[in-house]
Amino acid sequence: MTVEIIVNREKCIGCQKCYDKCPKGPRIWKADAEGKYYVFDLSDCHNCKICVGVCPKNAIKVNLIKNPKKPSELIDG
Ligand code: SF4
Ligand code: SF4
Repeated sequence: MTVEIIVNREKCIGCQKCYDKCPKGPRIWKADAEGKYYVFDLSDCHNCKICVGVCPKNAIKVNLIKNPKKPSELIDG
């Protein structure tokens, strides 16, 4: 069992709160060329869901899954 994080690109406003509040932010979160945030590497994620709680647009979903996808596949929209 592991974690996947899906960011809805249509909802994300690039506020950076997921990056700032995540205990492992710089290792997990990156911004793309449009300033929208996505998960770069989940290996340090411990499923605390702080990112979900701080996102003002409800753009982040954290799911427990059996077969993880690559981070690049987890950007929605
Ligand atoms: S669940 Fe916690 S550790 Fe994982 S990305 Fe979100 S804030 Fe960071
Ligand atoms: S907290 Fe939500 S809206 Fe803000 S940058 Fe992260 S995903 Fe986008």
